[in-house]
Amino acid sequence: MTPVTTFSGKTVALFGLGGSGLVTALALKEGGAHVVACDDNPAKMAEAGAKGIATGDLREADWSRFSALILSPGVPLTHPEPHWSAKLATAAGIEIIGDIELFCRERAKIAPQSPFIAITGTNGKSTTTALVAHILREAGHDVQMGGNIGTAILSLDPPADNRIHVIECSSFQIDLAPSLAPSIGVMLNISPDHLDRHGTMENYAAIKGRLVANAEQAVIGADDAPSRAIIGRNTAKGGVVRVGLSDRESGSIFAKGGMIVSNRDGHVFEVASLADIRSLRGDHNAQNAAAAVAVAILCSVDPQTIQRALRSFPGLPHRMEEVAQRGKALFINDSKATNADSTEKALKSFDDILWILGGKAKEGGIEDLRPYFPKIRKAYLIGAASEQFAATLGDTVPYEFCGTLDKAVEKAAQDAAAREDGTVVLLSPACASYDQYPNFEVRGNHFRDLVKALPGINPTMGA
Ligand code: ADP
Repeated sequence: MTPVTTFSGKTVALFGLGGSGLVTALALKEGGAHVVACDDNPAKMAEAGAKGIATGDLREADWSRFSALILSPGVPLTHPEPHWSAKLATAAGIEIIGDIELFCRERAKIAPQSPFIAITGTNGKSTTTALVAHILREAGHDVQMGGNIGTAILSLDPPADNRIHVIECSSFQIDLAPSLAPSIGVMLNISPDHLDRHGTMENYAAIKGRLVANAEQAVIGADDAPSRAIIGRNTAKGGVVRVGLSDRESGSIFAKGGMIVSNRDGHVFEVASLADIRSLRGDHNAQNAAAAVAVAILCSVDPQTIQRALRSFPGLPHRMEEVAQRGKALFINDSKATNADSTEKALKSFDDILWILGGKAKEGGIEDLRPYFPKIRKAYLIGAASEQFAATLGDTVPYEFCGTLDKAVEKAAQDAAAREDGTVVLLSPACASYDQYPNFEVRGNHFRDLVKALPGINPTMGA
């Protein structure tokens, strides 16, 4: 744990005890602060109380005794409208911050020179965070990985000069971290997302840009216009490394033809190869890998270690995760693909696909995926979106109503076995899971279990 000592002797209000909230309350208490915690869920309040955290209804509280409101990133700060706790904090004239900010202040106090790598972007944050951490660990560093990827930042070991923190930041977390100034800031890409919580695209891009604005060194994706605008404005003291798929100018690291290539002052050389690395298939992962390699180079990791680490990267579950092989059929779990945009990445990455899809449809359904229909040998429809998706597939793609994942895996596996050519059985639903599962993880785990129970299965990566 990283005790938060910057509020020692002071009283703070904390709203939101899910996710990182409880850890944050405990870290504040450990550092000598008095915390009054609140949550809409009584079970969370009881859990915090059992751990020695004072709880209470902050609506009833005397806000003049609080020095700050510590807000969970899941709670609206500004849009569609500020949460009631944020309104009360603003009325009391106190600051509203999150756990990343508490970490930044503690770092500034106890180890200002400690390496702190912060990573954001609309897509690819978790993959890039995990890959950066993996490369740095392969290079022998003491690495602490957390943030939005799942482990609360304040549950990690405290910052120290010989320890590297690799932290994934969502836009909500950046919004609550005004003094965010990492030693290396990584901003991968920007496309419209979470606009209900950020109001406009301009505001969303501005928040993302803040992660790199005060970084000592910045690594910024150059594949989309909002990110390029941030490169144009960036003032990182140590300069900007541009990364991506298309930028070949001096000062960039880019992916080209399966290679990660560096262009430093016009001197172009190949740093690493992505060929045959199954955990990093697809252009989107090439972008993630280019960013991770750029960070590794800034951390002085040698090319041999980078190459070795790329090869041993296991990938993350539910993101084009290779589950098993049976004969010439490969089984891929892409349950994290909860919209057509994400599924597009998978359809782009494979050929001859037996596609399991469906669930709770998002706006627009699978219309945008039409260009990939020629790659689909058959579709297996599950869940609430089945009728709608069948209408889109029409006469172009053969499909079958399967209802459940059990049935879809059974049918797709049968069809795969009957095919002479290699094929990919791909769960990439393009839908939320809520009609049949609590979340995409449970859906993906179910797929994995079903596949592994098939006769003659040969588990591959992730098994
Ligand atoms: P995040 O943490 O930002 O949600 P992940 O690394 O968990 O990102 O990847 C989630 C999904 O986003 C992947 O399954 C893939 O469909 C898509 N994705 C990953 N990296 C990128 C990228 N660099 N550009 C666009 N889409 C990506």
